[in-house]
Amino acid sequence: MNVPSEARASRQTGAHPFQVSFEFFPPKTDAMEERFWESVHKLAPLKPRFVSVTYGAGGSTRERTLRMVSQVKAETGVDAAAHLTCVGASRDEVDQVVHAYKTAGIKRIVALRGDPPGGPGQPFVQHPGGYANAAELVAGIRRIGDFDISVAAYPEKHPQSPNWDVEIDNLKRKLDAGATRAITQMFFDNNDYFELLDRAAKAGISAPIVPGIQPIHSFKQISSFAAKCGASIPDWLAARFDGLEDDPETHALVASAVAAEQVLELVDAGITQFHFLTLNRSNFVLALARLLGVRPS
Ligand code: FAD
Repeated sequence: MNVPSEARASRQTGAHPFQVSFEFFPPKTDAMEERFWESVHKLAPLKPRFVSVTYGAGGSTRERTLRMVSQVKAETGVDAAAHLTCVGASRDEVDQVVHAYKTAGIKRIVALRGDPPGGPGQPFVQHPGGYANAAELVAGIRRIGDFDISVAAYPEKHPQSPNWDVEIDNLKRKLDAGATRAITQMFFDNNDYFELLDRAAKAGISAPIVPGIQPIHSFKQISSFAAKCGASIPDWLAARFDGLEDDPETHALVASAVAAEQVLELVDAGITQFHFLTLNRSNFVLALARLLGVRPS
């Protein structure tokens, strides 16, 4: 029998050392908004370090993101982080959004370059007078206020990075520009994440690189998201969901087991911070948090 690691043991005694954060997307319709709030209210009592709200492609959710982060903070008391991208806007326009966050009392920003309107597969074209990349955006945000800034990291390398040296240099530049932590793209093979940590450590990066954990609510939907953002689905994972399209109950059980396995393997490796991609649903995340000993208080 395996001897539980210190972290696993502490989660069993309830003295958990874990910090969690949750990512939501801004709802488009009244029905979606209802689900958003139901999930926020179920997850807020877990006292996450923060809840983040994404920024739609091309800045399409500018107002909604601001409204949701402001309301999350006001209604739950949980710190809220607003995602922000450089796409389709001049520096002045992006800076205005940052000022609006500051005025609304939002102190955390997830700073991203973003993808072009044609999707992640298309080359990024800088807006004339806009920020060229996330590192420039981080520096711009820093000039405006003392925000807690997170940036993106990629366990399988960003699809547009020519090699790992460019990738890690870019990550370092973003952190050196004033970000506090990186949050990763979804990944399903923990070895990719461990290798990223090794590469970052060798480059002298000491900021936390928090794993972004994506529970597989729907294998079909998550595979399609993963393909768009350059995250791969290992064959063993596809095999586990094979034939479950019309069996939602077994699909959900397999998905819980897969996510639990991923998270507990990370715990065994000493990882203590997790960022859960909720897709505005609470059930998987509540269960995973419970495995970490993180319960409503
Ligand atoms: P950057 O770090 O600026 O760069 C991406 C790549 O471009 C780098 O890996 C590097 O290879 C290359 N590059 C950048 N600068 C240079 C340079 N000077 N020289 C050479 N190469 C360079 N998208 C949204 O639209 N809204 C969101 O809310 C959102 N949230 C996200 C949250 C997380 C945790 C993650 C991981 C991604 C998120 N994304 C979001 C997706 C993100 O916008 C895309 O992955 C985008 O393609 C890259 O953004 P970035 O901030 O990593 O870009």
